[in-house]
Amino acid sequence: MTSFHIFGLAEPITRALAEEKYLTPTPIQAQTIPVALSRRDVVGIAQTGTGKTAAFALPILHHLFADRGRPQRKTCRVLVLSPTRELSGQILDSFRAYGRHLHVSATLAIGGVSIGPQVRALQNGVDVLVATPGRLLDLVTSNALRLGEVEFLVLDEADRMLDMGFIHDVRRIVAMLPARRQTLFFSATMPRAIAALADQMLRDPAKVAVTPVASTVDSVEQRVIRADRAAKPAILAEILRRESVERALVFTRTKHGADKVVRGLVRAGIAAEAIHGNKSQPQRERVLAAFRNGQVRTLVATDIAARGIDVDAISHVVNFDLPNVPETYVHRIGRTARAGAAGVAISLCDREEAAYLRDIEKLIRMSIPATDHRSFPRQARPSTIQQARPSTVQGGAARPPADAPGKQRRRGRDRAPGKQYGPEQPRKVASGLAAVAFLHRNVRSAQGGERRRGERGNPEA
Ligand code: AMP
Repeated sequence: MTSFHIFGLAEPITRALAEEKYLTPTPIQAQTIPVALSRRDVVGIAQTGTGKTAAFALPILHHLFADRGRPQRKTCRVLVLSPTRELSGQILDSFRAYGRHLHVSATLAIGGVSIGPQVRALQNGVDVLVATPGRLLDLVTSNALRLGEVEFLVLDEADRMLDMGFIHDVRRIVAMLPARRQTLFFSATMPRAIAALADQMLRDPAKVAVTPVASTVDSVEQRVIRADRAAKPAILAEILRRESVERALVFTRTKHGADKVVRGLVRAGIAAEAIHGNKSQPQRERVLAAFRNGQVRTLVATDIAARGIDVDAISHVVNFDLPNVPETYVHRIGRTARAGAAGVAISLCDREEAAYLRDIEKLIRMSIPATDHRSFPRQARPSTIQQARPSTVQGGAARPPADAPGKQRRRGRDRAPGKQYGPEQPRKVASGLAAVAFLHRNVRSAQGGERRRGERGNPEA
């Protein structure tokens, strides 16, 4: 087994890694560290959770240690750009943890908090500045920071920068940097606009990549509960009561939805907090700290807010709403099963979301074991129920929205009889309790029961 010693990192760094109990480099670290140590530019395809922060932080810290020049006033030697405040905070923590035996200064420049302390922190210059693009530009335009001395640039989660509309800011920032620098560029996906940006920013980069998005889900046990929208809060509460949840991250599509889910859980006697873009920075930090130290076991988040949450030991991810972009599902469930741990991902899927589920299953190339807890109209005949999809029984009520992805592809497969439409199929609105009990009886783990889409088990495949 390879250890960090083979890279020849400075001793104070390997000592810090030993204290962090990092024994073996992750694949992205094994690929990136030697190349970055040779001062070559790197473009990496890797998601959060793969260990990519150490992949870029360790070689940079090594270079800073080897060349201990002091930063000039109002400058930084290393600039790390990240799309969210949370992610920036976590990157800073990582630099501080891995660099704890080096005399390296590091600070944060993020929005949502007052700019004064950031201006003061930059007065004498810093080695490492971790920043979100907007606040960084504010600091530059108010002459609190000059970018002409940057030796190392990291662009993290470049695709998310694009999603969040930061690409223009990123281009402006890059234009102010010296051409002579080392650039490490990371993105979970590589859409055309991001590949073009990488082309402009990097010189002859080494390309590194770890497990493509669709296969990172292998270590997560996935389940689907088909449910009526109205039954979802009760089912969620039951999941949180019944499963051995260490920490659960619950995803909703909207901020309003996140608050509503929290209110429902609190009414059901389950402590929960929400984290989303409407929360102030101190609120987010308080909630994240409570989640991290175990005071609150359930955090309800929107995708953007969750993107930067780096909390280990998330045992369960629950998709209260299914995402309409299938890659988002993979990002979400990647929040559990980190650094090799096992994890469970449970998705509550209502009729409107059936098309989203099909697209997810197509992306991950497996059919997720499902149980069905939707209500059926009293007049439905059992024979009909056994053969047809509930949407057919209910006169098309379950049709995906007109703009739903995958709508065209469904036809001929719709009637395939499925396992979960057998005699155990509940026909009334299932209580949360019944739903979860049923889930336990019937579900096979995704690991043991991986199946190609359409082979069996999923009537809509
Ligand atoms: P990242 O993808 O950088 O957000 O890292 C994901 C998680 O894995 C973080 O909690 C890191 O502390 C942890 N981690 C990173 N590299 C290693 C390693 N080589 N061994 C053990 N844990 C690691």
